[in-house]
Amino acid sequence: MKELWDRIVSDGEVIGKDVLKVDSFLNHQIDPVFIMRMGEELAARFSQAGITKVLTIEASGIAVAMAVGLYLKVPVVFAKKSRAVTQREELYTAEVYSFTRREAVQIAVSSRYLRSDDNVLIVDDFLAHGEALKGLVEVVKQSGAQLAGAGIVIEKKFQHGGDILRSAGIRIESLAAIEFMENGKITFA
Ligand code: 5GP
Repeated sequence: MKELWDRIVSDGEVIGKDVLKVDSFLNHQIDPVFIMRMGEELAARFSQAGITKVLTIEASGIAVAMAVGLYLKVPVVFAKKSRAVTQREELYTAEVYSFTRREAVQIAVSSRYLRSDDNVLIVDDFLAHGEALKGLVEVVKQSGAQLAGAGIVIEKKFQHGGDILRSAGIRIESLAAIEFMENGKITFA
């Protein structure tokens, strides 16, 4: 998505060798018009897949996931990172190692909101080593729902999460795929 490439180049900040900061439109401040366009594009790529539910992980996946859900006209569920006292029902859970926070967290989704007759599209802001996606795939598996694929805003190909998950047969669509980030310069695939 050319507009996203341009936005990454103009607003993105490369931190160290492997972290891309896009706080101006995606991860801190949100550009709602742009988020809607990205949601529309991801929804279009899965428009024929018979999606019944969009699944993401809190917090930064929620905005794009909501946009995708709006275009596909299906509910959006976000995995919670800690067990809330209000959750008394059965939970589907997985361990996710967070690349940016360098710690493992448990994610949980209530069995009320993922059902075995759902066809799920996972949406997230970044795909790096694939840990978040693997956790979400595990949650879908536990629910007995079908997994249609994953829609990602920015995939960092050099961290190979996409390779691992695609070779496991999962359809992954990313709006911008980064091949390298060297000396602050970003090369798109
Ligand atoms: P993974 O689990 O694939 O290693 O990393 C994906 C998750 O880590 C995403 O949900 C995202 O929140 C975070 N993440 C990974 N790499 C980056 C990055 O370069 N920039 C930002 N802002 N978040 C990242």
